[in-house]
Amino acid sequence: MRVALYCRISRDELGDGLGVERQEQDCRALADRRAWTVSHVFTDNDVSAFSGRVRPAYQRLVSAIEADQVDAVLAWAPERLHRSPRELEDFIELIERAGIVVETIKAGVWDVSSSHGRLVARMLGAVSRAESERTGERVSRAHQQAKARGLWRGPIPYGMQASAMPGSPAINECEAEVVRAVFLRILRGDALTRIASDLNEAGQRPRRGLRWTHTGALRLISSPALGGLIDVEGELIPASFAGVVDAETWLAARAALRRRPRGESRRPREKLTLLGGLITCAEHGHTCVGGGAAHAATYVAAGPGLCNVSITRRAADDFITKLALRRLGQPDAQALFYSADGAPHIERQISELRRRRDDLAALVADGLLTGAAARPRLQDLADRLIKLEAERAPRRVDSAVFTAPSETWATWTQPQRREVLRTLFAKLTLRHVGPRGGPRADPTRLHVEWANS
Ligand SMILES: [Zn+2]
Repeated sequence: MRVALYCRISRDELGDGLGVERQEQDCRALADRRAWTVSHVFTDNDVSAFSGRVRPAYQRLVSAIEADQVDAVLAWAPERLHRSPRELEDFIELIERAGIVVETIKAGVWDVSSSHGRLVARMLGAVSRAESERTGERVSRAHQQAKARGLWRGPIPYGMQASAMPGSPAINECEAEVVRAVFLRILRGDALTRIASDLNEAGQRPRRGLRWTHTGALRLISSPALGGLIDVEGELIPASFAGVVDAETWLAARAALRRRPRGESRRPREKLTLLGGLITCAEHGHTCVGGGAAHAATYVAAGPGLCNVSITRRAADDFITKLALRRLGQPDAQALFYSADGAPHIERQISELRRRRDDLAALVADGLLTGAAARPRLQDLADRLIKLEAERAPRRVDSAVFTAPSETWATWTQPQRREVLRTLFAKLTLRHVGPRGGPRADPTRLHVEWANS
């Protein structure tokens, strides 16, 4: 007899030791007792029994049975072989057609030749399926309860480590230093790719893999645990443990990343122009972009139906940079960037919303309010908070720029400069060359509308 072993591991056993090795050992021992030859071993690593994912090894087992390469199948228990009544029916039909023997350690020989045997197989299948579903429900209910109490569930992010208290990760000081620096740079407007490459140059390594990447850097800050927050079905509530940064910083960094124009942070720095997309035609309202192959040295509203108004890039950059630096050197410039001075009503609204969010979270934690009842209100609060924080967060800049504008400006990346220009200027428009003509470079054709003035 040629016998195929089939082993499968699922999520609920990851902890309790019924690994595939054990399943295989037990099956081999049974094969020895029956004096069968093990011709194939098929193993699936299936993290969730009810995920409905394809099982490649199971597919190969079915092919081997259909190709008449095996006479018997051995598994540890019936629920290893199938995960749903439908899979079971298909399997019963298959083994009946192929006329092979199926035996499991836990439930003995499957006799599918009789209607009684088929009934037993179906009942065993139903029982194991119910068990599997119950485990899933129990696990997710326990998770939700723990999270509502401010406990962390899920992978512990870079910057933190497990502590003696389950669900309350502690700060890993070495990694936390890296994390804090990354948050700071994101708030300053640095691109993720740039941050990742600087980490690599500094010899920092991620937990897995050799190098930091754009995605890795994004993941590095995306866990709410880092901000001392727990995500309970989409709402953020204060965690029972301290984060690596405070909640405000975490939320502001998330808002800053969301606010970035799509693609800007991913494009290579040197290709991003200072004013591309920020200038519009004074007459037609078309957006002028820079850097295209055909118009490398200009900003132009080019394209089907556009007016082709253009200006030399160098001239426009110099002109606008001078204006921006002069404005940054003025004594009241700082107020434009720190809304704590500029817009106290936003700060007041933010702290009021936070207080209400904390109150709700406390009611849920004390069991006085169900998560379902609190959810719409928490969601509404979270939406308003994110909106307000996005209004406030972009205005953070390196304060050195107010004392030494041109020196600081020179050290900035293009996205940082553009962020500042967006704050300083409400609008930059470009006039077409007049009837008397004039040099295309003439920067006085640019009209500036200052913000907050
Ligand atoms: Zn135009």
